[in-house]
Amino acid sequence: MDKVSFPRSCPVCGDEATVFTKMIISEKKEDPARPYTNPRISGFGKTRFGDVKTRTLFIPTCEAHQYTDEGENKFKVLCTLGDGILFSILFISFLAAGENLWLGRGLPPYLFGLVLLFGIFIGLTVFAFRPPKVFQAIQVVGFDSDFKHIWLNLENEAYRLEFFQKNRMHAEFVRWIKRA
Ligand SMILES: [Zn+2]
Repeated sequence: MDKVSFPRSCPVCGDEATVFTKMIISEKKEDPARPYTNPRISGFGKTRFGDVKTRTLFIPTCEAHQYTDEGENKFKVLCTLGDGILFSILFISFLAAGENLWLGRGLPPYLFGLVLLFGIFIGLTVFAFRPPKVFQAIQVVGFDSDFKHIWLNLENEAYRLEFFQKNRMHAEFVRWIKRA
């Protein structure tokens, strides 16, 4: 796993890679309520409850497809906050509009603007939380408890071939069988 080297081309578009994208793999927290259902715990006994192991991969990508989480988290927080605030305003406006309707005054025009704005914010939020293209091109399917082996799903076929040529000694094709 430590010896693995990624091709010097972008996994998304195949262009020459000039920058790196950091990919952090982390082990999911085990369910402490059911410790014996997971062979990783019962078999090796190395995983302590609550410990989350991480390993960082540096993947060469082109500048256009480089992904950094700088700013991204702020964007997510802003979107979520915006959704919450707008929803509150919208809720109160709907109450007020209901009263207006009750009094026979018709709907206030700003209500449509608010609904539109809320829609835009929801759209932005979906956009903010989508997985970046690099992580769609290189998906981590699984890994063993010491990160010695890692299963990758490489979307791009040319990239996959190059990857295996570069890592002939350490990589092998694995037919991934889902555990039932
Ligand atoms: Zn690219």
